Amino acid sequence: MEKILKRLEQYCTIEFDKSFKILTTFKIGGIAKYVIYPKDEFSLKSILDILHENKLPYKVFGHGSNILCSDEIYDGFIIKLTRNMGNFYFTDNELIAQAGCSIITLAYKASAKSLSGLEFASGIPGTLGGSIFMNAGAYNNSMSDIVDSVKVIRNNEIVWLSNAQCQFGYRSSIFLKNPDWIILEARLILKKGNINDIKKLMKNRQKRRLDSQPLNYPSAGSTFRNIGDIFAWKLIDEIGFRGKTIGGAAVSEKHTNFIINKGNAKAKDVIDLSDQIIKTIKEKYGIDMIMEVEKFDWKK
Ligand SMILES: Cc1cc2nc3c(=O)[nH]c(=O)nc-3n(C[C@H](O)[C@H](O)[C@H](O)COP(=O)(O)OP(=O)(O)OC[C@H]3O[C@@H](n4cnc5c(N)ncnc54)[C@H](O)[C@@H]3O)c2cc1C
Repeated sequence: MEKILKRLEQYCTIEFDKSFKILTTFKIGGIAKYVIYPKDEFSLKSILDILHENKLPYKVFGHGSNILCSDEIYDGFIIKLTRNMGNFYFTDNELIAQAGCSIITLAYKASAKSLSGLEFASGIPGTLGGSIFMNAGAYNNSMSDIVDSVKVIRNNEIVWLSNAQCQFGYRSSIFLKNPDWIILEARLILKKGNINDIKKLMKNRQKRRLDSQPLNYPSAGSTFRNIGDIFAWKLIDEIGFRGKTIGGAAVSEKHTNFIINKGNAKAKDVIDLSDQIIKTIKEKYGIDMIMEVEKFDWKK
């Protein structure tokens, strides 16, 4: 391994034995043995060549805001684009940004230029890459409304995919089916708007989140997807799970589709709690709940 690490170090910074409690907004999980920060796009390509050549597992993380990591040690490589691949620029109404950018930062930068389209994302604590990966959205808008094209490393080559090729759906895209592809950059199309209207809308959205979401506790946002026009929070409320607690994990009193980490929660606590929700809703309504939060490196 030492030889491999030496080769990798030409292309990235490597940090060792980092807790998933730091790498995710849930603040849950075991240890990531290797966390690497590629210097740039070309370095990332070389890194992937080395990892593939040595059959080493890897996983890209954005801000870790939609991931529940297992309590175990992860022996592979976490690749983070947030440190060196977060540049962006505007041309008229277009925004070209690297995958490691914070989507909140992009929303605020766009608003300062009177560009409308990213207001919905101004409270989503993810990166551009993570948001495109799952077609993040809120208030009836989603990334697919503004993505023109996405640059991706796919099967060892760098290609641009059009919006249609990304196969966006409700919290889904082609990237979910191809987790070894890496999103590098995207071109977003925004609209000229009125700066005061844009700022007002963002302020309203922010207030709505503060009023309805348990933002004072670590979480990964909504735990389950809505089913058509049935809200997941409503079903969870109806089965009487508001406030239900297992270990350090609890269904939020404020928003029942949020499972929160009330302190030192284990991944197992969250899984046990969500399994009980899934089972009870299936028994009572015959509905299959689907997790929106991704379980990573889950070992039974
Ligand atoms: C308080 C709170 C509120 C939230 N509100 C919303 C909301 O309103 N709407 C919503 O949709 N979500 C919401 N979320 C969930 C989350 O913020 C989004 O899903 C976000 O898009 C995840 O981005 P991330 O960078 O954190 O991705 P991560 O959680 O780091 O990763 C998620 C997945 O994307 C993959 N990925 C990340 N970057 C790349 C890349 N460059 N290339 C390929 N794959 C990549 C990862 O491998 C992983 O499979 C919320 C979360 C929290 C904690």
